[in-house]
Amino acid sequence: MSEHKLLILDDDELTGETIRNVAEYAGMSVQVTTNATAFFNLLKEWEPSHIALDLIMPEMDGVEVLGALGEQNITAKIIITSGVGQQVLQAAARSAAAHGLNIVGILPKPFNPKAFRELIDSPSPNLTDLIDGQHTTGRPNALTINANDLAKAIKNREITLAYQPKVGCTSGTLMGFEALARWHHADYGFIAPDIFIAIAERHNLIDDLTLLIFEQALPWFSQFCQQQHQTPTTPQASQLICSINISALSLRNLSLFNQIEALCHLHNVKLHSIMLELTETGAMDDPVASLDILTRLRMKGFQLSIDDFGTGFSSMLQLVRMPFSEVKVDKSFVMTAQQSRESRLVIQAIIELAHSLDMKVIAEGIEDYPTLQFLQQLGCDKAQGYFIGRPVPADKVNEWLKQRKLALEQQRLKALDILKIMDTPAEQRFDRITRLAKRMFDVPIALITLLDEDRQWFKSKIGMDVSETPREHAFCSYTIEQEKCLVVNDASLDSRFSDNPYVVNPPYIRFYAGFPFRASTGEKLGSLCLIDTKPRYISERETKLLGELALMVEEEIAANQLLCEDHLTGLLNRRGFEFRANHILKLCRDQDCEASLIYFDLDNFKYINDLHGPQAGDTALLQFAKLLNRTFRESDLIGRIGGDEFVVLMVNQSDTDPSAILDRLSNTVDAYNQSIHSDIHLYYSFGITTTKALSDYDLQQLYNLADEALYKNKQHGQQLNMTITVNSEL
Ligand code: C2E
Ligand code: MG
Ligand code: MG
Repeated sequence: MSEHKLLILDDDELTGETIRNVAEYAGMSVQVTTNATAFFNLLKEWEPSHIALDLIMPEMDGVEVLGALGEQNITAKIIITSGVGQQVLQAAARSAAAHGLNIVGILPKPFNPKAFRELIDSPSPNLTDLIDGQHTTGRPNALTINANDLAKAIKNREITLAYQPKVGCTSGTLMGFEALARWHHADYGFIAPDIFIAIAERHNLIDDLTLLIFEQALPWFSQFCQQQHQTPTTPQASQLICSINISALSLRNLSLFNQIEALCHLHNVKLHSIMLELTETGAMDDPVASLDILTRLRMKGFQLSIDDFGTGFSSMLQLVRMPFSEVKVDKSFVMTAQQSRESRLVIQAIIELAHSLDMKVIAEGIEDYPTLQFLQQLGCDKAQGYFIGRPVPADKVNEWLKQRKLALEQQRLKALDILKIMDTPAEQRFDRITRLAKRMFDVPIALITLLDEDRQWFKSKIGMDVSETPREHAFCSYTIEQEKCLVVNDASLDSRFSDNPYVVNPPYIRFYAGFPFRASTGEKLGSLCLIDTKPRYISERETKLLGELALMVEEEIAANQLLCEDHLTGLLNRRGFEFRANHILKLCRDQDCEASLIYFDLDNFKYINDLHGPQAGDTALLQFAKLLNRTFRESDLIGRIGGDEFVVLMVNQSDTDPSAILDRLSNTVDAYNQSIHSDIHLYYSFGITTTKALSDYDLQQLYNLADEALYKNKQHGQQLNMTITVNSEL
């Protein structure tokens, strides 16, 4: 080892001396310096075979030193030493790779002599192994490949692609793929893209390489989408996205993008299905020029993703100005999220920032389930990583997809099983939603379906006699493959359904619209569906409404029913009422429909209690609740929100006349009073308020107005069965 000369640059003298002792003991000659100028002088004069470099130093940081070493084409083996975290070390290793330096290892502080000796003795590892924290492969040194090798490989199309799936973070649905360059060299074996991309960038080969990537990815992607489109259960192929990495250097070359655009046309791939991934540092190098070209690319229709976000130092202002559609959280944070609080905070901050700028967020490097769950909780939009799927060659993608579907279905069935909701009795809280859906859409059939392994079972059914159907005949099997609404305008003309027994035989389904709903853990359980026997169209706004109603089903599934129910009357209690009323009011505001809130007060409740005892009081409340239930429609929301205070929220359609319903109530109460033998009659007052379309209101305002109307009615001597209504309107 005597020819080994080690030059150490470390601002901490003690560390420098410690390394010197170990290295000298191993037979090396050693020079130590704490100063960058002296370091570069020694480098020139003494020509060391090894360098140990501290990353954090006061006058010049280690990354700058790496840059300067790169410019001088230094071939010495470099060991990076530092007390900084793994991420910074990894970022530095990447930057060294970009400079073409020969990094043999990273030696984190506190200094460990054994690890140091192993590094000195070990052959140069593949740099990606270092970056990924894996062991060296012991292959011939891939760093000895040169630009000629690479140029040849590009020409001979030896660079191929692996595709890594991207899925919805919560839904798990396939969103697309990232195409990653792969080079299997005849002598050196697998060469990591970090290495040959850096060479391509330095030797002006990157645009040729990028074109080669597009030439392979586009026909594959186009064919994949077509095949998905033909697969009956995944009819959303048009939403799939193919992501391709673009070197920042290519941003100078507008003609490259014209060529890419032409290739997209050639292969019939829409530009908005292509996501160009640019690394953060690259994109921000020259903000003005970048902004210009990125804007043009966006205007053409390409989507833009900012890759490895969090590792560069872009300012918020730059990010706000750049026209990115997506931010990709760097894997160094994601991979350490379980151990490092800082990483978790960074991820959270990136997600919040991106969302506030109306950008989607994807996390890469997800290697385990807890990390995926953590990202779901933060509202991350998409997910990528070994836990979901490793990059695979084109011919293995379908295999992955098959496995993935099986795994997701198992997970779905497990979630359904945990809820114990199949084969339970009908419940008013679900029937209310189907009735509301039936009324709002004016369809003969509305269903809440749940899908288990071999059947579709109806948790709520309006207008349908059977309580379950075999799964193979269920439209909902298709719906649960969707993120949003599945609409079938005319089932008799749709090849997926035209021979379905429920289309060919009664009820002769023609129109179907189903919106999937999920368990709180994200698995799709079934769908809320509307069915008509006539063909029909549905507007985007109506689709949104169906989505809101499906959300209400999700909330019912997640809600703890016991906490929402008034134990005496079985009506909703205040909490249960308000939780649902707020949702319905939001729905009315979005859909521009009217709602009426009616406030009831049992006038003689105190009197009954005082005179006949609490049991008689309870009976009066119970009877009144029953009469309300009998009179109002099942789609109306009825609650007991205080001792003798009741409220009803009605969504008004053209066929709704609240005063007619109130008349009916008055008659029903009348009939009740006459039918009972005791003299405990029911006397009540009410106040009603009706919202105006497009006005801004909240539940509290409606309570206040209805209460005011109630008070006025009482003052006017409104009696049990008189419906003099002071109708206060918002
Ligand atoms: P990238 O664009 O950030 O790609 C993600 C990298 O993370 C890929 O490495 C991928 O294999 C890896 N990865 C994904 N999930 C996980 C995970 O769960 N754990 C771990 N440890 N790693 C994961 P790969 O393929 O080695 O690519 C490295 C980088 O090389 C890419 O980083 C990209 O910057 C560059 N690159 C790859 N292909 C191309 C290309 O065609 N053009 C350009 N310009 N750059 C490319
Ligand atoms: Mg990428
Ligand atoms: Mg990345």
